[in-house]
Amino acid sequence: MPEGDTVWLAGRRMHDALAGRDLTRTDFRVPKLATVDLTGQPVTEVVSRGKHLLTRIGTDLTLHTHFMMDGSWHLYRHGDRWRGGPGHQIRVLLENRDWQAVGYRLPVVDLLRRSDESEAVGHLGPDLLGPDWDLDEAVRRLGTQPERAVGDALLDQRNLAGIGNLYKVEVCFLQGVSPWAPVGSVADLPRLVSRAKLLLERNKNEPQQVTTGDTRRGHHHWVYRRDGQPCRRCGSTIRKEGQGDPAYERVTFWCPHCQPAPG
Ligand SMILES: [Zn+2]
Repeated sequence: MPEGDTVWLAGRRMHDALAGRDLTRTDFRVPKLATVDLTGQPVTEVVSRGKHLLTRIGTDLTLHTHFMMDGSWHLYRHGDRWRGGPGHQIRVLLENRDWQAVGYRLPVVDLLRRSDESEAVGHLGPDLLGPDWDLDEAVRRLGTQPERAVGDALLDQRNLAGIGNLYKVEVCFLQGVSPWAPVGSVADLPRLVSRAKLLLERNKNEPQQVTTGDTRRGHHHWVYRRDGQPCRRCGSTIRKEGQGDPAYERVTFWCPHCQPAPG
């Protein structure tokens, strides 16, 4: 499950490879775009909004893609071997003289008018890594559902955009709150949100996602995927349990001592 910082880094790399250059070949392997050919059009910009990627092409088009659980963009030089998966998982190919951008397993591939971008991303709350970041607005949106479990509310991209399961569990640990605590009971919500932004900012230029500050292998996280292991702070055994919509297989990890159950 990509986090906002993963998509931000993908967007920056895509921008560096594609922006300001004409496309020399395009191949859309989704039925509704099968006949579209944007060869000759320039890519003007690639930007991320939360976990959505917007590739602006020509004067008026935007290619909207979303990674969801398993999608990704890979960049290759001509002649490189493609490594993103079997060919039938490729949804879109954008090529210029130097680069081939290959989109694998992208569940969302839409071509929009530039003026309709807000239909794709207008519902999103403030983007933790975006130019529109607004702490007060993110906190306000979270606060509109005070009974909701904070772990769920942080993943809802309508509240704030960019937090996935990893940062959700890590930021709850750092704040000492249970992921099941109601939003309204969290003592310092602005601090919780600011911590999340800080973690994404620290990791956005790196492929690894380190929340402990310790880059050694096996030391990256406080509680994420550490169930059954001792808490790095108190030694209690880290626990895990499903939380929220089972369709998304969101598993929460927490320390029962550092993050006491609500109520
Ligand atoms: Zn602990």
